[in-house]
Amino acid sequence: MGITEKSIKLRNKLLAERTIKNLKSRKFDAYYCENKEEALKMAISLIPKEDSISWGGSMTMEDIGLISYIKENGYNVIDRDSAKSPQERMEMMRKGLLADTFLLSANAIAEEGILVTMDGVGNRVAAICFGPKSVIVVASINKICSNIDSAIDRLKNVASPMNVQRIASGMDAPFGTPCSVTGLCGDCKADNCICSHLVQTRMCKPQGRIKVILVNEDLGF
Ligand code: SF4
Repeated sequence: MGITEKSIKLRNKLLAERTIKNLKSRKFDAYYCENKEEALKMAISLIPKEDSISWGGSMTMEDIGLISYIKENGYNVIDRDSAKSPQERMEMMRKGLLADTFLLSANAIAEEGILVTMDGVGNRVAAICFGPKSVIVVASINKICSNIDSAIDRLKNVASPMNVQRIASGMDAPFGTPCSVTGLCGDCKADNCICSHLVQTRMCKPQGRIKVILVNEDLGF
């Protein structure tokens, strides 16, 4: 590992330790992992084998291999991507809100220990607020922001525009949001807007229901 990479890792570890302390003060469970392999093991250890499991769209969960792991190892999954129609997909998303365990990534965490989440449809933020017995959030340390304002700025001007590029790459027609053209948020009301709900989770109730895994490696958006 070169000196630059080592310095980034050491600084990120300090930031993660500080954020974990703050998350725990707000009754979240929180864990540090050095890399995605550790994060995968940690996430698996937090999921009882008998649990039903669902998840919100998450590049980070794909990156650490968790979604493919649970699909390939006999877990009871509610997988909206297996739906045969838009109606069935929506029904599965509704059922996912009563899964035992719900998996998602965080696109922004304020260092003071607050999860800040932007959502288009709303199933991810719904699951964070209420429903699944256990919620596992995986985030790389570059998602930690110095305060709530910078977390919201990250969501609007980094995470959502990147996510829009991902979605738009599979479409023939223009996506139609300002960020798809400029790379920055234009605070739109476009049909394809992916920013409907902005939720701050400043306490975890009941204690330990939300488990946050911070990974010292760049993952997702
Ligand atoms: S332009 Fe619209 S879709 Fe893009 S980040 Fe802003 S609110 Fe979200």
